[in-house]
Amino acid sequence: MIIVMRPDVTEEQIQAVDDKLRALELAANISRGRERTVIGAIGDDRKIQTETLETLPGVERVIRILKPYKIVARDGHREDSTVMIGAIPMGGRAVQVIAGPCSVETPEQMDTSAAAVRAAGCRLMRGGAFKPRTSPYTFQGLGEKGLEYLVNAARKHGLPVVTELMDVRQLDTFMKYDVDVIQIGTRNMQNFDLLKEVGRVDRPVILKRGMAATITEWLMSAEYIAAGGNHRIIFCERGVRSFETAYRNMLDVTAVPVLKRETHLPVIIDPSHAGGKAWMVPALARAAIAAGADGLLVEMHPCPNEAWCDADQALTPEELMALMGELRGIARVLGRDL
Ligand code: PEP
Ligand code: MN
Repeated sequence: MIIVMRPDVTEEQIQAVDDKLRALELAANISRGRERTVIGAIGDDRKIQTETLETLPGVERVIRILKPYKIVARDGHREDSTVMIGAIPMGGRAVQVIAGPCSVETPEQMDTSAAAVRAAGCRLMRGGAFKPRTSPYTFQGLGEKGLEYLVNAARKHGLPVVTELMDVRQLDTFMKYDVDVIQIGTRNMQNFDLLKEVGRVDRPVILKRGMAATITEWLMSAEYIAAGGNHRIIFCERGVRSFETAYRNMLDVTAVPVLKRETHLPVIIDPSHAGGKAWMVPALARAAIAAGADGLLVEMHPCPNEAWCDADQALTPEELMALMGELRGIARVLGRDL
């Protein structure tokens, strides 16, 4: 931290800041310029709130130097991390496409979906059993039955599963069904108690960006999971709220290079919840891979117009297959495997 003192600061005020830093177990480096005195605080100051110092007499402002996140930061971990989902790498050279319906509906729907996901060449399957719906009167997901249908269908076709966890009370059930990847949805990105719990389990986590979260807030949420011991985190950008009404959310492709610079962890994009319309998905998916995303989370339904949830944005199995072909071309140009 750097503490910039006011132009009219007194020696007593400088001394008081020095004393305060010592009390906080930080060393002080006082530098007296012609116009200003600045004090450098030396040591790990992440636990200290800037207000503690900003409110002292003679202090003009306090500037943080250290990033507030540590484990997820690239600063202390220069190489890209690969998160293994069983034998499937997320990150590194590989580009992974996770596909499947928004919600689990019936065993038949799941079996057809899993077969289509597999046939398209995707290596992981998604499907929501616990759904965070805006209205309490719409389909809320099948709950535990949904996990059963999802896992049965995916296992039959050799696919690991990704599904959303909304409540810590469901965590044991997720473990019972041996869910491969826990998804934390946009609405729960800052549900800190939930983040702490998934931080304690040995399971990869896809952390979606809160719909109005800054990148720093998102990184801090990942740090919550990492601080509990679980470092297998995958960031997922899914669009943020904007003034625009022509699409569901505004896909922040810029988040990809920014996150790649800030964290060593893999970054994927969900083009489905961003565009909100199936016809937008291929363009957003291509942009995501071209921008350097490590994968995608895409909604696909065997019969989109019959989907119980997010029907507008689901690709058909044929559209998913065609999209995979296009993405393979982009991945190849970038020297990546898909
Ligand atoms: C989902 O993936 O089905 C979902 C609800 O996504 P989000 O949390 O991004 O809205
Ligand atoms: Mn959905």
